[in-house]
Amino acid sequence: MYPRINIDLKKINENIQMIKEITESRNIEIFAVTKAVCADEKIVDLLVYNGIRYLADARLTNLENIKSKEIKKVLLRLPSQSEVERVVKSTDISLNSTISTISLLNDEAKKLNKKHEIILMIELGDLREGIKPEEVLTYAEKIFKFDNINLKGLGVNLTCYGAVIPTPDKLDILIDLKNSIKEKFSYDIDIISGGNSSSLHLLKKDIMPLGINNLRIGETYLLGTETAYGKSFMYMNTDSFSLDAEIIEYYDKESIPNGLIGMDAFGNKVEYEDKGIIRRGILAIGRQDVNPNDIVAFDRRLEILGASSDHLIINFEKAKDDYSIGDIVRFKLNYGSLLDLYTSKYVSKNYIE
Ligand SMILES: *Cc1c(COP(=O)(O)O)cnc(C)c1O
Repeated sequence: MYPRINIDLKKINENIQMIKEITESRNIEIFAVTKAVCADEKIVDLLVYNGIRYLADARLTNLENIKSKEIKKVLLRLPSQSEVERVVKSTDISLNSTISTISLLNDEAKKLNKKHEIILMIELGDLREGIKPEEVLTYAEKIFKFDNINLKGLGVNLTCYGAVIPTPDKLDILIDLKNSIKEKFSYDIDIISGGNSSSLHLLKKDIMPLGINNLRIGETYLLGTETAYGKSFMYMNTDSFSLDAEIIEYYDKESIPNGLIGMDAFGNKVEYEDKGIIRRGILAIGRQDVNPNDIVAFDRRLEILGASSDHLIINFEKAKDDYSIGDIVRFKLNYGSLLDLYTSKYVSKNYIE
C-alpha cells in the first residue's frame, strides 16, 4: 500500500545502541523520546529491549498506548490543567513550570494514593517553557510543601523555539541551581536534564559539564542527526526511514500555468519559473500527509514543484526515460516529514527487520 514509510528496525537498533554507549560512558542516562514516531510499538520494543528505562512523549495518548510495565513514562509537554487526572494515572514523571498545575497534580496524586514526580523546567534563553533561574528557590520551597509531589529533577529545553544552542555556560546554571537547592533545603535533586538532541554536540567535543546526568533524546536515535548544527552524529544511520509514493500521471506539459493567475489551493501567490515543456509526474501523496519542503527524492535529478492536499507534482525532465506511470519514487525524510507522515492515517508502514 502506498504511500508508505519504510522503517529499518536494524538501523534504528544500531543507533539506539550507539547513543546508549556514548551517553552511558559519560554517566548520562537518556529519556528516549518517542513523539516523532507516535510511540511506534516496534520502536518502543527496541528501546525497551536495549535497556532504556524511561520513555518520554509530548502526547498522553502515545504514553497511554505504551504497554511495557518495565519502563517509566515521562510527559514532556507541560500538563494541561484539564488533564491532570490522566497525567497522574498514566505517567510517572512530568515536566512542569507552574505551581497551580503542580498543585492540581498533587491533589490527583493524593486521591490515587500515589507520588507523582516532576522535573522543574528552567528558562535559559530559548523562550519556550520554564521559570527564571532566580525563581528556583521560591518554587522549590512551594513544591516541597506538596505531600504527593516529588521534585525529581531540573531541566532545560533549548534549540526549539529560539534556536539557542546549548553551551557549557548555560548548562552550568542548572548545576548551580541544584547546588543552591541542596545548600538551602539539604535536598539532593536526582536528575539534571541538559536538553534534547541539540546537546549531544557537547559530548562529541567533550565539553559537557559534569553534573548533567540526563538528556532527552529523540531525533538522534531516529534520524542519526544532532540538532544544534544539523549534522550527522558519530556515524549513526541517517537513512533509517524513507517514504515511497506512486506516480499516477506522467505527461509532458508546460512549466508555467496558462490563464488568469490568482491564488493556489492554500491561498498563496506563487511564482512559476518558465522551463519550457517538461515531463511532469503526479504522485499520490499531498500536504494532508507531508509538507513538500521536508522531503527530498533519493534520485537527485527529480525536482519537487509543489503539492496540493493530495497531489505532489514533480519535474522528471532530467530522468524522464527512467520512470513511467505506476512507478514508485523514494524520498529521504527529515524530522518534520517523519512527524507528519507518522501522524497521517493515510500513510502505511513497511517495517524492515
Ligand atoms: C521533543 C522534545 C525533546 C526531544 O527532542 P529531540 O530533538 O527529538 O531530541 C526533548 N525534550 C522536550 C521537552 C521535547 O519536547
